[in-house]
Amino acid sequence: MLGFIKEKKRKHGVSMKVPLFLLFLFIGFLPMFVLGKLTDRSFRQTQIDSRVIEVQNQCLIVSNKMSRVGYMNEDSRDSTVDVELDTIADIFNGRIVVVNKNFKVIKDTFRLAEGRTHVAEEVIRCFQGESGSRLERDKHYFALAVPIYDNTEEKNIDGVLVATASTENLMDMAQRVSEKASFFLLMTWWILILAAAVLSVVLMGPFARLQKMLNRVAEGNLDEVISENAYKETREISAAVQNTMTKLKTVDQSRDEFVSNVSHELKTPITSIRVLADSLMSMEDVPVELYREFMTDISDEIDRESKIIDDLLSLVKMDKSVAELNVTQLDINGLVQQILKRLRPIARRRNVELIFESIREVTADADEVKLSLAINNLVENAIKYNVEGGWVRVTLDADHKFFFVKVSDSGIGIPEEFQEHVFERFYRVDKARSRETGGTGLGLAITRKVILMHHGAVRLASKEGEGSTFTVRIPLNYIPYSGQSGTNASSDETLPRSHKSKR
Ligand code: ADP
Repeated sequence: MLGFIKEKKRKHGVSMKVPLFLLFLFIGFLPMFVLGKLTDRSFRQTQIDSRVIEVQNQCLIVSNKMSRVGYMNEDSRDSTVDVELDTIADIFNGRIVVVNKNFKVIKDTFRLAEGRTHVAEEVIRCFQGESGSRLERDKHYFALAVPIYDNTEEKNIDGVLVATASTENLMDMAQRVSEKASFFLLMTWWILILAAAVLSVVLMGPFARLQKMLNRVAEGNLDEVISENAYKETREISAAVQNTMTKLKTVDQSRDEFVSNVSHELKTPITSIRVLADSLMSMEDVPVELYREFMTDISDEIDRESKIIDDLLSLVKMDKSVAELNVTQLDINGLVQQILKRLRPIARRRNVELIFESIREVTADADEVKLSLAINNLVENAIKYNVEGGWVRVTLDADHKFFFVKVSDSGIGIPEEFQEHVFERFYRVDKARSRETGGTGLGLAITRKVILMHHGAVRLASKEGEGSTFTVRIPLNYIPYSGQSGTNASSDETLPRSHKSKR
């Protein structure tokens, strides 16, 4: 049962107002409680002390008088002293006993112990010259002893005056005062509870406001301005949320843009096919050659459409979180050579020289199919966007951590203002040239994606009219991020084996 409540608490959480409220209550209550207790105790003690002193003074006065009149001497005993003793005992609601040197009681204001022996601790001490008082807190009385001297020069102790007085009425008074104080304490308690409640609500106000704003965002209002600057914490939370929302909006926008780009790209070949088919149908007695020419164009457009779809599928599948790499140890030199061998006929057709420069033998952990595709795209672009009689140089190098593939060309180059965009999906610097060479605008996006999946990076350096250099850097050892497994053979289906293979 207790476990269930705890679990429930953990799930739903308790409002921060509760611990704050309890904290304020505790901070306010503790000093009040301690102060109350201390005041009460010291008040009681002061009352008793002053009563002891009062009784002691009175007893000293009487004992002096007794010494003067020689009270301890039976012959010269003065009855006015007896009256005085009775009066003092009455005033303090107590009892006075006079004991002579033989510990015999010669006077008792209660008239009970006269003639009896009285050997009490304070009497013995007093005869020894130590006068003092004794408080019996539990029995609610105190006793004090005062010496009675003889009236000779030596001042010998002739007897002892023992006074006992009740402290009960003092305690009753202290109790009444403490009850009154408790009433005020209770009032203060209520004020404290109220103040603690108000303070915790006020202090949590900024968080409540922030929560309201976040609720509006959760309802789908991404344009909500999240700004609560009352505390450093709320300001930082607001900034973090605002940042996330800006990113969300960008993702939203780029998704819309992507969808519109995809629709446009997919529509273009279909429009061409329709135009070609319509014009064929509108003509009469069309010669077979013209038919063949138009049908070849239609077939090219269909090829183009299917290539766009293939590329899109590759990208989308790599975008999915389930996208996994089929990582094996690869001979990168062999891999690059194979790519170049495949692309050599195209280079020859365009009269472009293809050079491979291998600085060292490299073996690394990578997904063969995906990495081939990425490097293939770079080399193919270097051939496509080259000039008649130009060259493409592929350099392979490595250090102790990474391997580097550098693809340089003597081609048309990429103007600086377009360089940061060429890796975006469907981005083409020269649309006409790209279309003419069969480009879909997705090649570099795929390349970058593959390199990022291998935890690598790609850099572009280019100058318009002089050529471009793409440098790829990939770790030699692939370490999957936590929660990502790197050895699942799904990539063969994920990517078309020869991207842009048809020229
Ligand atoms: P495409 O299918 O159009 O080649 P890519 O994504 O491969 O698409 O490339 C995007 C754009 O970047 C190309 O359209 C081209 O304008 C430019 N580009 C890519 N590589 C090169 C290069 N080596 N030289 C000059 N321009 C290039």
